Amino acid sequence: MPLVSMRQLLDEAAKGGYGVGAFNVNDMEQIQAIMMAARQTKSPVIVQASRGARAFAEDLYLFKLIQAAAELNPDIPIAMHQDHGNSFETCKSAIALGYTSVMMDGSLKEDGKTPSTFDENVEVTRRVVDYAHERGVTVEGEIGVLGGVEDGHGAGGTGLEHITDPDQAVEFAERTGVDALAIAIGTSHGAYKFTKKPDGSVLKMDVLIAIHKRLPHTHLVMHGSSSVPKELQDIVNEYGGKLKQTWGVPIEEIQLGIRNGVRKVNVDTDNRLAMTGAIRKVLWTQPEKFDPRDYMKPAREAMAKVVADRMTEFGQAGHAGDYKPIPITEIAEGYKSGKLDTRPSVTAK
Ligand SMILES: [Zn+2]
Repeated sequence: MPLVSMRQLLDEAAKGGYGVGAFNVNDMEQIQAIMMAARQTKSPVIVQASRGARAFAEDLYLFKLIQAAAELNPDIPIAMHQDHGNSFETCKSAIALGYTSVMMDGSLKEDGKTPSTFDENVEVTRRVVDYAHERGVTVEGEIGVLGGVEDGHGAGGTGLEHITDPDQAVEFAERTGVDALAIAIGTSHGAYKFTKKPDGSVLKMDVLIAIHKRLPHTHLVMHGSSSVPKELQDIVNEYGGKLKQTWGVPIEEIQLGIRNGVRKVNVDTDNRLAMTGAIRKVLWTQPEKFDPRDYMKPAREAMAKVVADRMTEFGQAGHAGDYKPIPITEIAEGYKSGKLDTRPSVTAK
C-alpha cells in the first residue's frame, strides 16, 4: 500500500471512535517492530520521525526504510509524519521526501526552545498549511507549550506553565486550518514526566474536553503520552540501569482523551525503555555475547510487544482493513474544493 494521508487515517479513526498511536523511529529495527505489531493487531499506524531522527539516520535511509515497510505490508495503512517541525523549511524538506504529514510546531521559535507569540505561531503554521495542503499533505499544529525536552526539542519545565487556552485553540484552528492540533494539558516529553501518579492537578483533561467540544472537526493530538510503566523501568534497573522512578500518562487517561476527540497519541519513551531493557538484559546476563543481532532481536521484540499493547489499548487494532487509501492527489483536491476544510466557521455551516 502506498503511504496514506494522515488526514484520511485520522478521519477514519474519528468515524470509528478510536485513537492511533504515532510511534517514533530512528532505525530499521524500530520500523520493523512497529510493523510486526501492526500486522499482528491489524492496525493502521502513524510512523514519525523527529528532526533528531532524520539527522541520526540520514533522510534517505530512513525514508527508504518506510517505503520498504509500506511495500512489505500492503494491507496496513501507514502515514509518515514529521514530528515537531521547527520551521517552514523543515516541513518543506519532509514533504519533498514524500512524508504524508508534517507537524509545524510553531509554539516554539525556530530554535526549538523559546516559546513564540501566538501571532508568530499562526503565521508560520498558516504558511505550512498552504504549502502542504496544495500537495495533499496533512498538517498538525501545536498551541500551548508542552513540558520537558526530547531530542533537544522543548521548552523544559513541568508542562503546567503554558496550558492551552480553549479560546486560543479555536482562534488558532480558524486562522490556520490545521488538520490536527497538539494541545498542552500538562504532559511532558521524555521519561521524567511526573513525580507521582498524575491526577487532575497535573493532567488537565477538562481542558481537552472543552477544546474538543468547540473544535469537533479538528483531530486532537496528545504528545508526551508514554505511560512509562514500572515494569519497563524495573527491567532497565535490574540489569545495571540507573533510572529514577517516574510516572507517565496512565492508559485510562489516554482512553478518556480518545473518547473526547484525541485521534493521535504520541509514544516514544516506552519504546526506548523496552529496547534498552532488552539490550541490557542480554549484555548483563550473557556478557560473552558480541553479535549485535543477539541483542537487537530481543530489543525489537520487546518494542513490538509495547507497540501491540498500545494499539490494542488505543482501539486502532482490527481497523487496518476498514478502508482503501485515497491517493494524495485526490486529498489535495479535497483541500482545494473546501471539502476537507476544518475551520470552525466553515464546519458550523
Ligand atoms: Zn511531541
